[in-house]
Amino acid sequence: MVFEVCRALRKDATAIPVEILDVIVTSLLSHNRRFCAIANISLVSSRLRLIAFRRYFETLEVRSPRHWDKSCRILGMFNWVRKMRVAASDVQSNMDALSSFGSLRSLEIDFSSDGLSTQKTRCSLLFKSLTADLTVLKLTSLPRIDTALLSLVASRFPSLTTLELSSTERLDKECCWLCFEESSSCTIHSPVPDVFPSIEVLANAYGRALQPLENLEYLFLGVFLSDADVLSCHFDRCASVVISSPRTGFYSSPPFGPDKCVICTAEHGAAVHERERLASGIVEKILPSLKTVGWSSHFSEHGSGADRRTKTTIFCTRTLKVKVDSTR
Ligand SMILES: [Zn+2]
Ligand SMILES: [Zn+2]
Repeated sequence: MVFEVCRALRKDATAIPVEILDVIVTSLLSHNRRFCAIANISLVSSRLRLIAFRRYFETLEVRSPRHWDKSCRILGMFNWVRKMRVAASDVQSNMDALSSFGSLRSLEIDFSSDGLSTQKTRCSLLFKSLTADLTVLKLTSLPRIDTALLSLVASRFPSLTTLELSSTERLDKECCWLCFEESSSCTIHSPVPDVFPSIEVLANAYGRALQPLENLEYLFLGVFLSDADVLSCHFDRCASVVISSPRTGFYSSPPFGPDKCVICTAEHGAAVHERERLASGIVEKILPSLKTVGWSSHFSEHGSGADRRTKTTIFCTRTLKVKVDSTR
């Protein structure tokens, strides 16, 4: 099909309206996002190359510092990119270049290379270089989600309609119980009660920090609303109950979280669901433009898709009777 399109275009490319060419390129990329999908068509003429590149570079997924450096040298790139996915560490060598992406509207940044001590500085430097016109912002693998970060986001990006901040994917369940437990000590995955004494205080603090975002419709905050000791109890109690093996004395299967633990689910599931509803209601009252509020959860009952078991999404109904703390 690509060959036939190219042959027809080579004959008389100027006779075909730009809109039609744009649809053809978009269709090619909808089946295959790799450059080979537009390689042939970009060789037909400079006009077609421009259309093809503009569509192809609409989404930029930065794979390494070298890829970032090379991408920034492509003429036109700064105007084409509307959606970007990047790791914070990949752009640190040339962070200023971010300020040139004036058409950027959707951005996802992975903070997995950062720790509790570097997150604040990294965020300040990154946000300073970004356009204030972003409408979608996703920050993943954050060491912590605190009111300082939320206030910074709200003041820098007032046009946001979607905001997703998440910490809990830093919990490492891929290796062993020791790695799982160690990763939990480097992340503020459950801010109650160590950072906030109660769910009401947490929801009020988060909601007020985000209050400047008057257009915000979709909010996801990837922390657990269960107490921090739900996970530590799971390590101390459930892991040892399940992992003892009569033959070897230790258990070699991969670790699992409270989401797959019948003991923890029976003990905490219902109470955590109630906390999630309460927190969502409080945040919704403070941010009336919201349509959904999501949280990370060990005991999800309202999630969807691949994250169904670990994310809870609550649809705002405007009918929840919750008390909003008016003290600051
Ligand atoms: Zn390990
Ligand atoms: Zn458990």
